[in-house]
Amino acid sequence: MTAEQLYIDPSTCIDCSACVTACPVSAIYDENDMPEEFDLFKQINADYFEKSPLDISHPARKKRRSLTEQQPVLRVAIVGAGASGCYAADELARIAGVEVSVFDRRPVPFGLVRGGVAPDHHKTKAVADQFEKTLRRPNVTSYFNVDVGIQVTLDELLEFHHAVVFAVGATSDKTLGIPGEALEGSYSARQFVAWYNGDSSAADLPVDLSGQRVVVVGNGNVSMDVARILAAPVETFEPTDMADHALQALRHSAVREVVVVARRGPVDAAHTFSELWQLTQLEGVDVVTDIAEIDHDVGRGDGDGQFGSERKLAMNTAFAQNPGDDSRRKISLRYYLTPEAIGGDGSVESMTFRSSVTGELETFQTGLILRAIGYRAEPIRGVPFDPVRGTIRNIAGRVTTEGAESPIHGLYCTGWAKRGPTGVIGTNKVDSQQTVAALCEDFESGNLTDPARLNDDVATFMNEKQPDLVSFAGWQRIDAAERERGRISTVPRTRSKLISVDALLAASRL
Ligand code: NAP
Repeated sequence: MTAEQLYIDPSTCIDCSACVTACPVSAIYDENDMPEEFDLFKQINADYFEKSPLDISHPARKKRRSLTEQQPVLRVAIVGAGASGCYAADELARIAGVEVSVFDRRPVPFGLVRGGVAPDHHKTKAVADQFEKTLRRPNVTSYFNVDVGIQVTLDELLEFHHAVVFAVGATSDKTLGIPGEALEGSYSARQFVAWYNGDSSAADLPVDLSGQRVVVVGNGNVSMDVARILAAPVETFEPTDMADHALQALRHSAVREVVVVARRGPVDAAHTFSELWQLTQLEGVDVVTDIAEIDHDVGRGDGDGQFGSERKLAMNTAFAQNPGDDSRRKISLRYYLTPEAIGGDGSVESMTFRSSVTGELETFQTGLILRAIGYRAEPIRGVPFDPVRGTIRNIAGRVTTEGAESPIHGLYCTGWAKRGPTGVIGTNKVDSQQTVAALCEDFESGNLTDPARLNDDVATFMNEKQPDLVSFAGWQRIDAAERERGRISTVPRTRSKLISVDALLAASRL
């Protein structure tokens, strides 16, 4: 309330945009987007850090890199326009002499920011505005609706670029390995999330909300999102960018109870405290727990070094006092139950767990099971994969060979494909900085050979390879069309997403 100006340390800021969104007077800018009339503040800011030097031993506080004038252009292809790809593009595009090509197999950018983050988490989604600025930079060119491996090969990318960075995320699921897992009505949370977020790959998922109970397996943040979406009043999502088909299904939902089942106790819960707390804020919803399962964890709080676990335990204990009211929807948090089997004839009818405390079996009658037990990266042809970690084989972002683990010059990775499916969106910034630092080091030390077609135009080549490619301008047309659809909706919405690839392509050409 008293500060004259804020000074944001640019090297530790994770670009989550929360401050930009929250600032009541829209006074926070990235230096590159600062209106000219505010130029004076760049110097004031620089003076501030001159007087209050940063602790330069902090690993994130590395001086921004610049290539020497003698060095030729460095051309990098990034495969994947999600958070980690956009952070990598941003890091690279700020270096003079670098040209970046960003590819995505979808006709639209932003990966899980568009297709994963829950529609009611608008502030998290606002990071897309930062990514948009990155993609708009003059030395960044976008090629959407291009599947690397299908429309263009890795070798072809390497003919034009010194290096390829895989920022492909984790596009598959961990599995439970129990009977009945593949029955209709048993879906991964990844599929369900893609369904309600309007990803074309999941638009036809037969989500049946006619049953009274849904079982969600696992209790990470994805399970919290899924439980909230299923239990919250549909009005919560009417003004958001949730897919029309999901809104329609939720309007007619018969679901009364969402059971979130974890194999360990509340102290070890994989979700964050704030996601748990959000469940308590839902109108018309009771969150309930079973005191016998909670009691088991008493005395195992923050002592285990898990920050916040004491608060999770206390909140769960409070939930146990709430008997629940049958006129309201219910989220039941259950613990110490390990999945045994999914039952059903052709489609899901029940799921059975074994209690690791009592050893007894417990069966829930349900027609819909959502497995929120984690994502998994998929192997890419020609790129070594570590099947145990479920990631591209790499050391600090340098793709390595199997066995010898020596770097394959020119191949890099970042994000979930590099470290596995952990962390929040901002985690990818530091991750991508590490990968880009390795790439630049390799370039400067002469480990990256000049591509054979360095002087040829990538865009001309790509337009021949994929006549249906969507450029950044094409994405802007899709964006405008979706916002307009949202604006004229009965309940005005941030956007009304186009779902099918055909509809997206048509909008991109308008
Ligand atoms: P996660 O955090 O790894 O949670 C996976 C859950 O599945 C855990 O409860 C885990 O139990 C359980 N599980 C794994 N294998 C199992 C098995 N065989 N049987 C029963 N349970 C099993 O994964 P996630 O929820 O998919 O989240 C992925 C990442 O995205 C996380 O870093 C998360 O924080 C992030 N994310 C963040 C937000 C947000 O900030 N709002 C939203 C969504 C996702 P154990 O703990 O016992 O292994």
